[in-house]
Amino acid sequence: MPTFSAHDLHRFVQGVVVSAGSTAREASLVAVQLVGSNLAGHDSHGVGMLPDYIANVLAGRLVVNQQPTVVRDSGAVVVFDGGRGFGAAVGQVAVDTAIERVAEHGLALIGLRNSYHLGRIGHWGEQIAAAGHVAVHFVNVAGHPAIVAPYGGAESRFATNPICVAIPGSGAEPMAMLDMATSVIALGKARVAFEEGRPVAEGALLDGEGRVTTDPSGMFAHPRQGALVAMGDHKGSGLAMMCELLGAALIGGPTIQPGNERDDAIINNMLTIAIDPAAVGDAEGFRREAHAFLDYAVTARLREGFDEILLPGQPEQRSRVARTAGIPVDDNTVAGLVAAAESVGVPDLGAALAS
Ligand code: NAD
Repeated sequence: MPTFSAHDLHRFVQGVVVSAGSTAREASLVAVQLVGSNLAGHDSHGVGMLPDYIANVLAGRLVVNQQPTVVRDSGAVVVFDGGRGFGAAVGQVAVDTAIERVAEHGLALIGLRNSYHLGRIGHWGEQIAAAGHVAVHFVNVAGHPAIVAPYGGAESRFATNPICVAIPGSGAEPMAMLDMATSVIALGKARVAFEEGRPVAEGALLDGEGRVTTDPSGMFAHPRQGALVAMGDHKGSGLAMMCELLGAALIGGPTIQPGNERDDAIINNMLTIAIDPAAVGDAEGFRREAHAFLDYAVTARLREGFDEILLPGQPEQRSRVARTAGIPVDDNTVAGLVAAAESVGVPDLGAALAS
């Protein structure tokens, strides 16, 4: 598989997004977000998203250079409407505001409605944690038909609604960060399996009749036949529902129910809660106790088949180290990137990438 440096991918993404009409700053934020996902090992949210973004800009479903509007501002509580702007840009305004307000009030609750895809949610949690604060994010995914079945359901009723909790460390990396979809697997993983003609793991998919299947083809039929399964049975299904209620309904954003607009866009609504440990108690004591607990947790005797216990966030940290040597991007994704560059009139950028 060809590999690329983060620098080359950043330059490519930025060039294409500028050609689609974004300012250099907005394009750079998009590049940082996408390439950062590849570096963290989440290729499903990496540069492979760019063709979808560009197609949606050209179709008018994603608005370039959008400034989020303030719907409410009462100090520690701010709600923005992202106006379908690039998630990397309107999300940055929301997260910068969270960092500013938590420093002022000890606690901040920031709502962001109607953002285009916010990408890897850990990108946002990491920034709040790097500023020394705890971050909690509940996010829903609307703007398109549901793809995940509720526990007990034979058809889908919500999407892969992610949740993220980041705990500050002593440097730029969080001490621990859980950043996860609430489905067993992301749709992107099912798509890769489908394209490669492989089955998916047992327990991740239902067919059109609601029976467990390992065949991903129904998910990509028109109309779609089947659904992703929520992780952890009723528990993950319940968490995904809470993402609809807290991440969207509470802050005035659209849930995925069919009374709201669905035009095949990827709309995220995100509730962000930022907590300054010093506002709650003893920040140093929190750090000490958190370390003591995490050290205890990872020293459990190992089950057969396991050779270590990782903290949430460690796989991403390891990936960032490993991928400084180069980011693998498969041929299909490269072809999609070349086509995206052509669609906005910069085929030379695509040719340079593919060469
Ligand atoms: P995942 O299953 O790879 O990881 C989930 C969490 O588990 C992470 O915190 C990771 O550090 C941790 N983890 C992974 N392997 C581990 C191990 N062996 N031991 C201990 N901890 C481990 O992630 P996912 O659920 O597939 O989600 C991938 C990304 O997709 C996330 O960044 C999420 O924010 C993003 N996402 C975004 C949207 C959106 O609409 N914007 C929707 C769904 C998911």
